[in-house]
Amino acid sequence: MRLSDIGEFGLIARFAPRFLERLPAGTVGIGDDCAVLPWTKDRRLLVTTDMLVEGVHFLRAAIPARDLGYKSLAVNLSDIAAMGGRLTAAFLSLGIPACVEVEWLDAFFRGIRDLAAAENVPLLGGDTTKSPGPLVINLAVLGAARRGRIKFRSGARPGDAVVVTGSLGDSAAGLRVVLEKRPRGRDEAALVRRHNRPRPHIPEGAWLAGRKAVTAMMDVSDGIDSDLRRIMERSDCGAAVNLDALPLSALLRRTARRYGWDERELAAAGGEDYCLLATVRRDASAETAAAFERAFGRPLVRIGTITAAGDGLRYFAGGRPAALRRRGFDHFTSKV
Ligand code: ADP
Ligand code: MG
Repeated sequence: MRLSDIGEFGLIARFAPRFLERLPAGTVGIGDDCAVLPWTKDRRLLVTTDMLVEGVHFLRAAIPARDLGYKSLAVNLSDIAAMGGRLTAAFLSLGIPACVEVEWLDAFFRGIRDLAAAENVPLLGGDTTKSPGPLVINLAVLGAARRGRIKFRSGARPGDAVVVTGSLGDSAAGLRVVLEKRPRGRDEAALVRRHNRPRPHIPEGAWLAGRKAVTAMMDVSDGIDSDLRRIMERSDCGAAVNLDALPLSALLRRTARRYGWDERELAAAGGEDYCLLATVRRDASAETAAAFERAFGRPLVRIGTITAAGDGLRYFAGGRPAALRRRGFDHFTSKV
């Protein structure tokens, strides 16, 4: 059997159940953005790890070393945000091909420092080895959250509103600028920056985790088309998404128009936005959105509704059923 037959998530589903048996009390294992461990009486430890592989997650020639350092940490911090945690510590492991120059690594660590300092998360250790192939970057990040103030992917219920904390598609458009070698005008450069230096939504995650009406949460790493399916699986439900409601930045709209790109497809299936995707109880969704806007000065955007199990993920546009041509990212089934 080939990996492409089952995909990244099919593979995880094959081995995960055996490692979910007999976990100690208070421990949550494989299946969410972070694992959860008991820590103090009323605090829980959150643990996440994410790897970036040259040629898969980045092209070394196409991203400045400093941005790559920043992004490597950002994508890991985003998983702590997704559970509603505060940041505690980071660990960095590198597999480095011999051809990489020390000056490149100095810049890479400056990027790690930029975000570590801004988010006040100390780098406490890691590992360094030679790599006979690509550059491999792995981070592990620890976070903390109050017991009962952690959101999982598993709490969504039919009728809940599906919301996102930021605009979708900028990062995917930035990647497309890079891959298609588009001239870097001001808009293109801004989109590439959105791709290279994503902001993890730590305050938004902590805020949403503090609201009882929020039933499930995760971060947008593979595109809502893939990520919302993770919530559907864990919560045993379906979802309906209104493509007309996807929050698109003016930057994305202008650039998509310039190059004839399908902006909705970039927004739904592109990925690497690293904002948060959450579900909110229907009766409290308007009040939650209003309070979010007061707290952050930006909207909490409703993009759809959780539906019954078996409905699958359905898209609508102009009030009619619609389809995406491209699926969200999967390591073993996606072509790009
Ligand atoms: P994320 O994108 O938020 O990091 P994923 O959707 O990639 O999470 O992973 C789903 C779940 O599977 C997570 O709980 C993750 O920790 C777990 N997981 C992924 N790969 C492995 C692995 N090789 N061994 C153990 N757990 C894994
Ligand atoms: Mg995640």
